Amino acid sequence: MTFTTRFAPSPTGPLHLGHAYSAMLAHDMAQAQGGRFLLRIEDIDTSRARPAFEAQIYDDLAWLGLTWETPVLRQSDNMSFYRQAIEKLWKSGLIYPCTCNRRDIQAALSAPQEGAILTGPDGPIYPGTCRHVPTPDMPIPDTAALRLNMVRVRPMLDDLRYTETGTDAGMIDFSAEDLTQTLGDIVLARRDMGTSYHLSVVLDDAAQGITHVVRGADLAEATRIHVVLQRLLGLPTPVYHHHRLIRDDAGKRLAKRDDARAIAKYRADGATPGDIRAMVGLPG
Ligand code: GLU
Ligand code: ZN
Repeated sequence: MTFTTRFAPSPTGPLHLGHAYSAMLAHDMAQAQGGRFLLRIEDIDTSRARPAFEAQIYDDLAWLGLTWETPVLRQSDNMSFYRQAIEKLWKSGLIYPCTCNRRDIQAALSAPQEGAILTGPDGPIYPGTCRHVPTPDMPIPDTAALRLNMVRVRPMLDDLRYTETGTDAGMIDFSAEDLTQTLGDIVLARRDMGTSYHLSVVLDDAAQGITHVVRGADLAEATRIHVVLQRLLGLPTPVYHHHRLIRDDAGKRLAKRDDARAIAKYRADGATPGDIRAMVGLPG
């Protein structure tokens, strides 16, 4: 299988050093393996994605010396593909509509019998208020979020594992029980967008034949969700390479809003692509 990797930015802000590191590392790895490097624009959140940021992504990546295959997959053009997967999960009774807002969830969680509030990577663990198995021929409501019913899904999942080649390299084993406790019933389709980062990323990685996912260590935890979705949807699990995060001088993770570290800013200040490579610790 040809080594195939991708860089999958969300055009919701300028590319910063952390993105540049991720993209260049993936590109370097593909080159070293004689493999393929793809670019994917993750713009399902139309309330936050901006065409100007997308244009700047192409411009910054080309300036850094990267080349990628075309056409570039834009997730906003692929919504019917995600919908098909939602329909499949719906017909299998594995997802259910949830109409709780943030306040409802907080209220349910702070009820005395619930004990300590558990927080996962996507926020507080959903207490399962709306969890039920809907009738498959009922139409999918478009005014609700759709959550994965972990109670239903749990018995279908065994030997959950993936290969990690980045930080904490090795075989990562985990159980569906752990997931239920640390993640709960995750949202697979947000009310306002009909899909979610987790669902779309898994479907696109499979459809694009990604063999190696290279991305920041901040997404290592989400990988367990991705492996579960791959199992439920009958998709292969790629190898994952989670890399160290590029931090600012105060040791803080670089946020996209942090325009001071935007690649565009370094370019305007006269930095070369080689300077950027040196700054993130990649060989010249
Ligand atoms: N679109 C995600 C981000 O910008 C990255 C997705 C991924 O690499 O899995 O953070
Ligand atoms: Zn609910």
